[in-house]
Amino acid sequence: MIVAKRKPFPEIMESLEGYDKVLILGCGTCVAVCLAGGEKEVGLLSSQLAIAYELKEKSLEIGEATVERQCDREFLQEIRHQIKEYPVILSLACGVGVQFLAEAYPDKIVLPGVDTAFIGSNDDVGLWTERCRMCNQCYLALTGGVCPVTMCPKGLLNGPCSGMRNGRCEVGPDRTCAWVLIYERMKETGRLERVQTVLPPRDYSRSTTPAVLTHKAYRRRYSANE
Ligand code: SF4
Ligand code: SF4
Repeated sequence: MIVAKRKPFPEIMESLEGYDKVLILGCGTCVAVCLAGGEKEVGLLSSQLAIAYELKEKSLEIGEATVERQCDREFLQEIRHQIKEYPVILSLACGVGVQFLAEAYPDKIVLPGVDTAFIGSNDDVGLWTERCRMCNQCYLALTGGVCPVTMCPKGLLNGPCSGMRNGRCEVGPDRTCAWVLIYERMKETGRLERVQTVLPPRDYSRSTTPAVLTHKAYRRRYSANE
């Protein structure tokens, strides 16, 4: 899932400076799960803004709405009538949702209300960890299901580095070195000899942006755009 966190309140206040009417728009998928931008967080931010403006003796008309996904046109269409009423939309979706919203409603001022952090796992209540950097050449089959790009702070494909001490990472000594985890996982699954395979340098040409992916069944349909 995409993990995000709400922007600091002073930053949100600053971005709204000079406007008197805003729609706070939540997204019901990833950002709702990571407690940054779902329906509940829309309500909390709305109350916080209302109190802050009242204390400053200023006025801000605040609307609230949440769609299932802001990265999907059909869900953005559903709220077009409500959006029409507001010159400014404060989106609590990830960066994709914010951009998609701005594209769908070019006459609106679209502001981000969260910082998109990473793709990660939900490890415990209120705890998320990065798991994938979308390198577009997944190595997990060779590394026992431990991502060397993400779990090793240096992204080493042929670790460990010389800084590893007693199995701990030199960058974060509270963490086990990713390459120790890889070694143990490969050993447990009887594939230790594969750890000796030297991986070639990453092919960064596969990580150019913006990436575009077309499913093979739809290549003809989109070929005019390629
Ligand atoms: S190797 Fe790591 S960063 Fe690359 S795709 Fe696999 S999980 Fe993601
Ligand atoms: S100690 Fe291990 S995880 Fe840490 S930077 Fe070196 S190889 Fe990567």
